[in-house]
Amino acid sequence: MASLDRVPFLDLRAAYNELQQEIDEAVQRVLKSGWYILGPEVESFESRFARYVDSSYCVGMANGLDALHLALRALGVESGDEVIVPSNTYIATWLAVSQCGAVPVIVEPDPTTYNLDPELLEAAITSRTKVILPVHLYGQPADLDPILSVAKKHGLRVLEDAAQSHGARYRGRRVGSHGDVVAWSFYPGKNLGAMGDGGAVTTSDSSLAERIRVLRNYGSKEKYVNEVQGYNSRLDPIQAAILNVKLEHLDEWTSRRSGVAQQYIDGLSNADIVIPHVPEWADPVWHLFVVQHERRDALQKKLRANGVDTLIHYPISPHQQCAYRGMGLSEDAFPIAASLARRVLSLPISPHHSEKQIDAVVSAVLKSVRET
Ligand SMILES: *Cc1c(COP(=O)(O)O)cnc(C)c1O
Repeated sequence: MASLDRVPFLDLRAAYNELQQEIDEAVQRVLKSGWYILGPEVESFESRFARYVDSSYCVGMANGLDALHLALRALGVESGDEVIVPSNTYIATWLAVSQCGAVPVIVEPDPTTYNLDPELLEAAITSRTKVILPVHLYGQPADLDPILSVAKKHGLRVLEDAAQSHGARYRGRRVGSHGDVVAWSFYPGKNLGAMGDGGAVTTSDSSLAERIRVLRNYGSKEKYVNEVQGYNSRLDPIQAAILNVKLEHLDEWTSRRSGVAQQYIDGLSNADIVIPHVPEWADPVWHLFVVQHERRDALQKKLRANGVDTLIHYPISPHQQCAYRGMGLSEDAFPIAASLARRVLSLPISPHHSEKQIDAVVSAVLKSVRET
């Protein structure tokens, strides 16, 4: 195969190349400032990102997992508590719960949207439930209204995992403050990605924001005065400076992602694969474009032979991971998640794939599906 024409799954250098001058200047500004922990660059990003997601407060953190973990801590989750999580998500969602000593209680997704099925929520609630933790997977918001109303009815808090959904809208309003608190990741491959690790929480609850601000910085508001046993999980100012540059371009980059998604939808709607379903209340930001196929592994292999790189999100669902062997869950304990793990395939998508490249992917998928 002509390797020159390969379509990569994602090329992060293309993002840097587009913004190189702005990013280099931003990084230089931090290096020359002599201020290397928290400070003005982080504060500026926090206020701009809070505004972007239509939330009152943002607290910058070291990564998305810490954002989830410290948000749960701030909500008072502790050993013995239960937190409701989706069966199909990146394992970080579950790990944040486990890190609090709490128990993840698992709910299956709606198989058409891949997001937590609100119909199954009430059956999962017990006297120990503290928090519902929906994930906005693949860039598409979960169905928040019914989740929030179940939470309200049972006196539970809601933490949203928005690591894949910067800018996504639910019923016209940006994800960022529907629930009590929202956790974000700026891992390089995310829609808003740093050039290293980064994360944040947003919330419109000032006391929650304050608690998380204290937790991320050794339990301290005032230097050497420690109110609680905290953590060290601060957003790095160099990453904040890069994020300040990239935030300016996020809407344009999201619209380029939507263009790619539309090309796939137009090209693949008659192919013998399942393409994403977008409910009428969702404005997704297309972090991933995930299709399903019965013989996924064979399809992936054919696509690779035809010059198209794909990935699987995720090949092993959390309940089948060794890390959660201790919960004693069988594969068919969560059949929807298990089936998705066998069938899903992520096609290349980013603001930097050309129309020509995506045309090539569409042709390769049509050809490979016929042959598989
Ligand atoms: C990326 C991701 C996280 C974790 O973010 P990190 O910054 O890598 O710690 C959590 N949840 C989901 C759904 C993610 O995709």
